[in-house]
Amino acid sequence: MSSVKPVPAACDRNPEYALYRQSERWRKLRIAVFLRAKGKCEICRRADAQELAHLTYDRIFNELLTDVLACCARCHRELDARWRNERHQHGPARDAGGAALEDESPS
Ligand SMILES: [Zn+2]
Repeated sequence: MSSVKPVPAACDRNPEYALYRQSERWRKLRIAVFLRAKGKCEICRRADAQELAHLTYDRIFNELLTDVLACCARCHRELDARWRNERHQHGPARDAGGAALEDESPS
């Protein structure tokens, strides 16, 4: 049975994702990644790891160990914010230079 729905799977509000995060698979993934990280946040390397953060959502529900990072709550929040920002900046975000064409026509 394949009831594939085009929902943003990574969303916390997605009930499937919420369930998944309570699943045995997620728990094992979490343990494995925490072991790899030796219990430390893999982003700041200072705080204790508390959560798993996705580096990619390509294999959501079937992640590889390399698709996730163990991280502290703070880094996770920053990472998520970055995800969100990236979604907002879908173009070349450089128009602050104001490199106006100056015609210094030498006479
Ligand atoms: Zn951290």
